[in-house]
Amino acid sequence: MQTVGFGQHDHSACVGGGMKAAEDACAAQGLRLTKGRRRVLEILLQEHRAMGAYDILGLLSDEGFASQPPVVYRALDFLVANGFAHKIQKLNAYIACAHPGDSHTPVFLICRGCETVAETAAPLKSTLGEVADKIGFKIETTIVEAEGMCPTCATAST
Ligand SMILES: [Zn+2]
Ligand SMILES: [Zn+2]
Ligand SMILES: [Zn+2]
Repeated sequence: MQTVGFGQHDHSACVGGGMKAAEDACAAQGLRLTKGRRRVLEILLQEHRAMGAYDILGLLSDEGFASQPPVVYRALDFLVANGFAHKIQKLNAYIACAHPGDSHTPVFLICRGCETVAETAAPLKSTLGEVADKIGFKIETTIVEAEGMCPTCATAST
């Protein structure tokens, strides 16, 4: 699985691919991708940066969406529950999933310089899984968030 977020890449593929995956999944599962949900996902896909609910709310009201906090929270809940977005606990913010459609345990690399968030899947999961197996612990969810410097910020600071 590719680490998406840092450095040069074809970002239009991230946006287009993310929307397409959400549309396909909604069609296949009979979920409703309402105008509001679609717009919130589009906003999250614009940048590899986590956004708080109130940032999103601000953008939506600038666009003239009749948006109340509950509307945004419900849209975010929908996107997270269906795997189109993830919540970054550390930042109390949301990010579009970089690998929609794949079942995965995301690992987030958060740059403290530019606040870019890259999503990857580290082998960590299996190591943790082995440890848990040994003691008979059944893992249901794992959240891994690492904070540090992205290549661009690390270069700039030296
Ligand atoms: Zn991108
Ligand atoms: Zn993901
Ligand atoms: Zn950075």
